[in-house]
Amino acid sequence: MTHSERILMSDIMKARKAGGYVRKPRTYAGDRVCGHKGCDTRLSTYNSRPTCRQHTPVRFPRVRGRVNPSEA
Ligand SMILES: [Zn+2]
Repeated sequence: MTHSERILMSDIMKARKAGGYVRKPRTYAGDRVCGHKGCDTRLSTYNSRPTCRQHTPVRFPRVRGRVNPSEA
């Protein structure tokens, strides 16, 4: 280690001690939990819905070619 490197290192240590490198914990815009009562499932940042997959009503697309037995 050269002399100049040693000085740089001590400067970094000082800065760390002074809290110069302390970062605030990151907060994500997508850090949300399910809005369903009692459910604390964390929502994906890709999930734009206010509830988790389990509590998001899913609309199934109509299945083509299937005949309802009661109508057949
Ligand atoms: Zn949920």
